[in-house]
Amino acid sequence: MLNRNYAPRFALLATFLPLGTGASCQAIQQVLQTETPPPKKFMNLKNTGRIQSVQQRETMKTEMTSSGLIRSEFKPGELTRLCQAALDQAQTGADAISKLTETQRSFENSVLALESIRAELADATLPLGFMKYVSTDPGIHAEGAQCEQMTGEFEVKLMGRRDLYSAIKSQKPRTPEEKRLLEKTLESFESNGLKLPDAALAQVTQLFTQLNDLQNAFSDHLNNDQTSVELTTEELEGVSQDFLSRLKKTPDAKRSIVTTKITDYEHVMQNAKSESARAKMAFAYNNRQAQVNTELLEKALQVRQQIAALMGYKNWADYQLSTGRMAKNSTEVMNFLDNLRVQLAESNRKDLDQLLQFKKSYDPSATDIKVWDVPYLSYQLKKKEFQLDDEQIREYFPADTVVQGLFEIYSQILGVKFQLVEGAKTWSPDVKLYQITDSKMDSKSDQVIGYFYADFIPRPNKYSHFAAFTLHKGRVLGDSYSKPISAIVGNFNPPSNGKPSLLNHNEVVTLFHEFGHIMHQTLTRAPYGSLSGSSVPRDFVEAPSQMLENWPWQEKVLNLISGHYQNPSKKLPPEVLKKMLMARDYQQGYFYTRQLTLALTDMAYHTATGPVDVTLTYNRIFKELTGINPVEGGHFAASFGHLMGGYDAGYYGYLWSLVYATDLFTVFENTDILNPQTGKKYRELILEKGDMEEIPSLLIQFLGRPPNNDAFFRKLHVGPGNRERTNQGQRRDNTTNP
Ligand SMILES: [Zn+2]
Repeated sequence: MLNRNYAPRFALLATFLPLGTGASCQAIQQVLQTETPPPKKFMNLKNTGRIQSVQQRETMKTEMTSSGLIRSEFKPGELTRLCQAALDQAQTGADAISKLTETQRSFENSVLALESIRAELADATLPLGFMKYVSTDPGIHAEGAQCEQMTGEFEVKLMGRRDLYSAIKSQKPRTPEEKRLLEKTLESFESNGLKLPDAALAQVTQLFTQLNDLQNAFSDHLNNDQTSVELTTEELEGVSQDFLSRLKKTPDAKRSIVTTKITDYEHVMQNAKSESARAKMAFAYNNRQAQVNTELLEKALQVRQQIAALMGYKNWADYQLSTGRMAKNSTEVMNFLDNLRVQLAESNRKDLDQLLQFKKSYDPSATDIKVWDVPYLSYQLKKKEFQLDDEQIREYFPADTVVQGLFEIYSQILGVKFQLVEGAKTWSPDVKLYQITDSKMDSKSDQVIGYFYADFIPRPNKYSHFAAFTLHKGRVLGDSYSKPISAIVGNFNPPSNGKPSLLNHNEVVTLFHEFGHIMHQTLTRAPYGSLSGSSVPRDFVEAPSQMLENWPWQEKVLNLISGHYQNPSKKLPPEVLKKMLMARDYQQGYFYTRQLTLALTDMAYHTATGPVDVTLTYNRIFKELTGINPVEGGHFAASFGHLMGGYDAGYYGYLWSLVYATDLFTVFENTDILNPQTGKKYRELILEKGDMEEIPSLLIQFLGRPPNNDAFFRKLHVGPGNRERTNQGQRRDNTTNP
C-alpha cells in the first residue's frame, strides 16, 4: 500500500512504497485500492572537515544497531532518546554550517555537509520510525510513531531555513554530480518556500508542520485500525475450510470474527455466497476510521490549498507537479487521465455487463450489480470460465519456494546473490534477514552490497498491506559505499492446518513487484542519499516494480518459483499456466477504470480551491466512471492512505509509470527475459542511477530510442489496433480497495 513516510518535498525521508492498499497490487480483486541510487568515488570526506561527522555517525550507528543491522529491541523511552539524539546532532551540524563566514565556506563544508547531515539523520531515524509499522510492542510502536512525527517536523524546519539556503546557494559545484546535488537541494528548499519573503516563509513552514501532523495522525489511525465484522457460519458459506478454521470466534462461539485486513477482506469478498455478508464487509471496510480520518483529510486539503496559494500556484496539484515529477502540471496529468477514461469506457461497460449476465444466471430477478458483488462475481466467473481456483493454485506456491525461486530469477537477470543471515535478531521470529552480494559478470569477487528484511506474516498492529521500506539509504561514505538496508512488509496467509504459508498467483506477482522496489533501493550506486535508490520522480518510482511483474507469467520462471507444498518436484502444471494466461486480461477494463477513479479522485481533491467533501467527491467520480453505486454510507477516502502518505496529486503515477514499465519490458521481451546482458544494462542505466540523471535521458539510453506508449496501449487494449483482447494482457497492480 502506501508511502506513508511521505514527504516528497523532503526527499530523504520519503521511504516507503506501498503497494496498492490492500487488495491491490493484485489482479483478482475487483476491489481496488490504491496503494510507494552513485558514481565512483566522488569525494573523500576524510579530508574535508566532515571527518568528525563521519565518526559521529559511526558511533551512532554502533549504538543503534546490533550485528551491524537495524535494532528492534528497546527499553521504554530508549527509542525516543535515540531519535532525539539524532535530531540534536542534525541540528548542531546545520547550525555549524550556518555559522561559517563567507570566506570559510566551501562546497564541501556547506552543500556536502548538509547532504551528509540529512543522510545521517535518515539512517538514524528511518529504522526507528519503521517500528511504528512492524513492532508488536505497543510502547515501541508508539515511540516509533512519535519519532516519525518528530523527524517530519524537524525536516520541515530544516528545509525552511533561510540561513542554510543562502549558505549553499552561492556555492560552485566542481563536478556534474555536485551540480546535480546542488540543483536538487536548492529545488527542495525552494519548494519549501525559500523564494518567499520571511513572513510568508514562516507561514508556509507552519503549514507544512501542521500538514505533517495531520498526515501522521491519519496514518496512525489506519495502522492501529481493528475494524472487524462478526459473521455466522451460514453467512460465510463459500469460504475455504482453511480460512474458516483460522478465524477467531465470538465469546458465545456463534459467530466468527473477520478482520478488514486485506487477506481476510479479499477472501470473504471473493468467496462468500451471502450478499448481505459481503455488504457488511464492504460497509465496514469503507468505514475504517471514517469519522476521524475524513476530517483529517479534509483539513489537510485545506492546508495544502493554503500552501499552494502562498507559493503562487493555482492549486496543490500544480504545486506538487512543479518539481520532481515527469509530468509538468495538472493539465498534462488530466489530459493523460481523460484520454484513458474515454478509451476504457467501453471495456469497463463490457466487463460489468458480463458480470450482470452471470448474476442473472443464478438470480433471474437481478437488474444491476452492487459494488460488493463485483469481487465475488468476478472471481467466481473467472473460476467457472477458466477453471481456475486460487485455493488450488496456492498449493503450488509455498512462500519459501517462491522466495528462493525469485532469488534465482533476480540473480540471473541482475547479477546479484542472496543469502539468509542465520540467527539475525529481528523484531519477530518469522522475519528473515538476507544479504545481497554482487556477482555482476565483470565483478572480480563477490562483495556484500546491501541487506533486506522479509516480513511476510500478519501480526496484530502490523502494517496491513504490502510496502517496501528504505531503512538505510545507499551513498558514498568516506572511501566506501554505505550499504543500503530495506524491508518488504507484507501480509500473506499465515501457515495453518499443517500447511505452510501459501501464495496465490496475485500474491506472487505482488512479491515480484515489491522486490522490484527492493532492487531499486539496494542496487543503487548514486553518491548522495537524497538522490539514491528509489528517490526518483514519484510518477516513475513504480516503473521498475511494475516491469518486474511480467516475470511470473513465464513458464520457465514459474518452473523456478513453484513446487507443490506436499511434493516440491511437482511444478505448476502447464495447463494451469495456460488457463492463467488466458484469464490474464479478464476484467481489466473494470480494473483500470477503478485505477482511473482513484487517480481522478486524487486530482479532484488536489485541484480544488475551496472546501472539499471528500466522500461526496469520491462517490460521484466512482459512479460516473464505473456506473456502479458506491457503498451507501461508506467513507472510502478515510482509508485512502496514499493521499496522506506521499501520493497526493500522485496517484496517477501508477498509470503514468506503467507507460514506462511496459516500454522497458519490451527490451527484455525481445530477447530473453532472463538475459543477463539486458539485465546488466537495466541495472546500470535505471536501477543504479537513482535520481542522478533525468529519467527521459536514461530511458533513451536503455531503450535505444525515445519512450512511447505503444506497449502500454497494447496492454490496456486501447488505442488504434489494440482493442481486441489477446491473452497477453495486463495484470492489475498497485491499487487500493474500495
Ligand atoms: Zn509499488
